[in-house]
Amino acid sequence: MSAHPAPGSPGNDKGPGIGIDDLPVREELRGKSPYGAPQLDVPVQLNTNENPYPLPEPLVARIAERVAEAARGLNRYPDRDAVELRTRLAEYLTRTGGHPVGLANVWAANGSNEVLQQLLQTFGGPGRTAIGFEPSYSMHGLIARGTGTGWISGPRRADFTIDPVTAVAAVAEHAPEVVFVTSPNNPTGTAVAAETVLALYEAAQAARADRGGALVVVDEAYVEFSHRESLLPLIEGRPNLVVSRTMSKAFGAAGLRLGYLAAHPAVVDAVQLVRLPYHLSAVTQATALAALEYTDTLLGYVEQLKTERDRLVDELRGLGYEVTDSDANFVQFGRFEDSHAVWRRILDRGVLVRDNGVPGWLRVTAGTPAENDAFLEAVRALKKEQQA
Ligand code: PMP
Repeated sequence: MSAHPAPGSPGNDKGPGIGIDDLPVREELRGKSPYGAPQLDVPVQLNTNENPYPLPEPLVARIAERVAEAARGLNRYPDRDAVELRTRLAEYLTRTGGHPVGLANVWAANGSNEVLQQLLQTFGGPGRTAIGFEPSYSMHGLIARGTGTGWISGPRRADFTIDPVTAVAAVAEHAPEVVFVTSPNNPTGTAVAAETVLALYEAAQAARADRGGALVVVDEAYVEFSHRESLLPLIEGRPNLVVSRTMSKAFGAAGLRLGYLAAHPAVVDAVQLVRLPYHLSAVTQATALAALEYTDTLLGYVEQLKTERDRLVDELRGLGYEVTDSDANFVQFGRFEDSHAVWRRILDRGVLVRDNGVPGWLRVTAGTPAENDAFLEAVRALKKEQQA
């Protein structure tokens, strides 16, 4: 979708000849495009890192039950502080994250994108900057822009790992107020070592000692798929370190829109300064609570997806593709002279993968075994064509 629809095109109902740039929008939004992975109607959709497994029927029934209960109270505003939900999320983190947390450590919002937005509204903003090590999740930069926060693109090595020395140097040079570390990283799948996060944390605190330090946000959207442990224990004794999570991936509930964070209670207090009152609907809270009752079942699907992810890595390597080590539910593969042309040819075979704009690389989400077979069939055919 273009940010600048042609006059009369769908989505432009502002009258003929009027586009975004004709409106009095903020200067920094002029000429920009919105985030948008194509939502194409193709048989095999492996482009947005969703969980391919629909929620199990007993959980669907439980959601209906809990939502019906919530519906009886919809004349009232929901629990503004989402106490029950945050308590259950804290229990989940304590059980799986290697570190005990409680209600006061956890905050929830409509997707981790909203969590990240609240963090940037609180700790970023005009006159402040945030850094991320790219290629990484493009929304970090876009949410920075939306909140008036300056964006700094930090370095990665050619193998997409973060070199602590150059990353620390970038933090020292730019002295950002917010540092994003995505582990496992999207779109590369790369996990980040705890020592690297600690080095960045120290550097960020030193560089912004004038402001009481800087916030380090560890985006763990995909951590349940990782070979490594969560970085959650790093919040201990580090009030400026936040771990953000989501139910969109491991819990198979991207449509729910539920993200959360774990941090020092002061961070949870701070984001309340910017959150909209009653931002988390009673229906959302009820649905998330039902899903959390089925944590073990849903984590069982995660195990299957990890096996499938590893199979994709092995088979792609077997075909002679370069594959970045993956700790996520997707795999980055290449290298292609013209990755967009390859993306198109895979699409022609009914499989939608993601062209993230990382030159030479594409990304495929681990789907069901049948979907992955279809994808592998498509890339196998491409190889044959090349060799013919
Ligand atoms: N962080 C990362 C690294 C992601 O890849 C995504 C989703 N693609 C998100 C956060 C946001 O997820 P959600 O808003 O669905 O929780």
